[in-house]
Amino acid sequence: MSKDTTSGSSRRTFLQASGGITLATALAGYLGESAVATKQREPSRHVTELVDEMTLEEKVGQMTQMAAGEISTDDPAETLRKYKPGSLMYLTSFDPEEVARTSNKLQKAMVNETRLGVPFVYGIDSVRGDNNVAGATLFPHNHGVGATWDADKAEEMATVTSRVMRTTGTHWNFSPVCDIQRDPRWGRFYEGFSEDPFLASQMVASKVRGYEEETNGYKRTGASIKHFAGYSAPANGNDRTAALIPYRTFVSSILPSYAAGINAGAETVMVNSGSLNGLPAHASKELLTDILRDQLGFDGMVVTDWHDFYRMIKVHGFAEDLKEATKLGINAGIDMYMVPAAGIEGDDAAGYQQRLIELVKEGSVSRERIDDAVTNILAFKEHVGLFEDPYGTPSKVSDVISDGRDLAEEVATESMTLLTNDGTLPLDSGSSILVTGPSADSVRNQMGGWALGWQGVGDTEPPATTVLEGLSDAADSSTSVTHVPTGLHEFTNEDDVRRAAECADVVVAVLGEGPYAEEKGDTDTLALPEAQQRLVEVVSGTETPTVGVIMAGRPRGTDVFDDLSASMMAYLPGTAAGPAVAATLFGDANPSGRLPFTWPTGTGQIPNLHNNYPPDEFNKSTNVNPPQSHETPLFEFGHGLSYTEFEYSDLRVAPTKLQQKNATNDITVSVAVKNTGDEAGETVVPVYGGRDLGQVMYPQEVVVGFERVALDPGETKRVEIRSTILPLATVLGDVFSRGELVIDTGEYWLSVGDLTETVSVV
Ligand code: BGC
Repeated sequence: MSKDTTSGSSRRTFLQASGGITLATALAGYLGESAVATKQREPSRHVTELVDEMTLEEKVGQMTQMAAGEISTDDPAETLRKYKPGSLMYLTSFDPEEVARTSNKLQKAMVNETRLGVPFVYGIDSVRGDNNVAGATLFPHNHGVGATWDADKAEEMATVTSRVMRTTGTHWNFSPVCDIQRDPRWGRFYEGFSEDPFLASQMVASKVRGYEEETNGYKRTGASIKHFAGYSAPANGNDRTAALIPYRTFVSSILPSYAAGINAGAETVMVNSGSLNGLPAHASKELLTDILRDQLGFDGMVVTDWHDFYRMIKVHGFAEDLKEATKLGINAGIDMYMVPAAGIEGDDAAGYQQRLIELVKEGSVSRERIDDAVTNILAFKEHVGLFEDPYGTPSKVSDVISDGRDLAEEVATESMTLLTNDGTLPLDSGSSILVTGPSADSVRNQMGGWALGWQGVGDTEPPATTVLEGLSDAADSSTSVTHVPTGLHEFTNEDDVRRAAECADVVVAVLGEGPYAEEKGDTDTLALPEAQQRLVEVVSGTETPTVGVIMAGRPRGTDVFDDLSASMMAYLPGTAAGPAVAATLFGDANPSGRLPFTWPTGTGQIPNLHNNYPPDEFNKSTNVNPPQSHETPLFEFGHGLSYTEFEYSDLRVAPTKLQQKNATNDITVSVAVKNTGDEAGETVVPVYGGRDLGQVMYPQEVVVGFERVALDPGETKRVEIRSTILPLATVLGDVFSRGELVIDTGEYWLSVGDLTETVSVV
């Protein structure tokens, strides 16, 4: 059986589309002036000379990423000489100084005791702060970061993260996730920033810039934008199952955040573990070479996800054996294989290296492809300064390990999204507050997955203040806080909770999910577990006002809202959950988060996205058996209340006419925003765009710009927002069209609140 989907060697030319706009140009426009021009980097002389000097075995070594745990720390040189690994991952300690010392020990052996002394690059998932080492600040997960609509903060968090990483000898971060949220059943929903490509793109680019900030002439760490591409849209909601994405959607919704990451300089790309349109992404030359390199202009290094050559056999039933899978993957454009677990049915580093060497010797993988891969790997190492400075600095760990505590609180506070409020919030001082629910005092639940443990916090706890602690700390002397815990899935103390609720002035129930990561988080329901539904029933039955705070990796909670006097989405806030929730509930901070995703009524009619094509539903009124969960969202994309009110007026858009050839230019939107209420507050001003009639249908709305503004009561400010109609670029033609991306001539609308202006493209 042969399934060679490749042809010829990889081209490095940058395809110029005829007529329309190139994908890269179009999508770079998402970032406006902050985009780094996509450039074709020539490898340095040092890199070229190294490649020339290397044996085939050394080159294949570079193309291997192993688990550090597989290298004996007693005599690392022997194993390092055997495998010559280009990269290591997963040291086994949570102690940052020990990580730095161990990585240094291995690196010293690599540099001093292997023939060419090429340093390995140590990589890990530090996706929300350095969540692999004890003592580091853990920021909110990305769906919470998306809710802040504050790209500057995303960059600051990444800067803090990379500083900690660098001291521990970690030069490569498997972050940020670029996958657009499409389906809350999927266990990785919270790793994405938004369902909206423009919002997600701003966040991705900011994180890449923060990770890759230059210090001492090189990038502090390298980012990996992942998982290229289409990973977040498995059709049945289960991780790593088949995704089916039409080209038009792929180009206009899935690619922009990758293009943003590339334009911000991302050094590496990690590949989608699943399949797309009937082909494992790892075997697709079209994805990994034609689109990624030739069209998006990516010139860095491509790494597989975890054991994904093996998955081509066992999961996708696509390749006959590991040798064929390796051939398909490397020829498709993969530079490095992540093969960290010795011996998943023979898929270990030794076997991979042997197979790849055989493939080269037989002529099934060209030497040029190998040299190309090794050049990409060495260039990446050079850009992060590994040749000059390959070591961590254990003595500096304590200087940086607790950085970012205030930032974590600011970001978590900005993310808090007030969903409903009958006036119960903010809480009155002098009241007696009952705090209950499974996540009120649970470090595990407020962290979620990727928190000193893949599936969440284990024996070592990250720094954290729980909601109970936060409320107790923030309460003044006239306010009392009592606590009755309940479980995520058990509710065995109904009477205690009822009695305590009856005695309280207000109940704060912290609800939601326990931690999970990847496939272990897939679900078929968005309803809260029955135990928590019952908890809400019991406390609301007492007639004491009840505030629900939800900590979850997705829009979790469907039928509880009618029983809650007020409700707030807190996402997975991390270290600073306590102060952020407390400040918002007490009104010391005015909530300003906006949902970066649509909150559906259930899983019945997914995908439920604000940028779906119309209609959302068709003539349901006569349905005698209407679906239980339907298209009308519980809370719309962008929803988020405040303790004050904001009013928009005098919307101005310039220019209002664009030549088609200049349609990628920025548009300036400005609007007067007035705080008409009694409280000071910040608000995010989103600009939406759309188009009603065209040669193809257009999404109902997309974000085309946004800005945060702070206003005192009665104050008005004119807010200027960089905007672009690029998110409305589309592929013209019939249903299976593979045309180029185009901003068609015609009329586009831009709106802020109820105000709308038109931009014509001629
Ligand atoms: C995940 C990646 C992650 C890798 C290494 C995989 O299972 O899909 O996102 O970077 O493991 O931890």
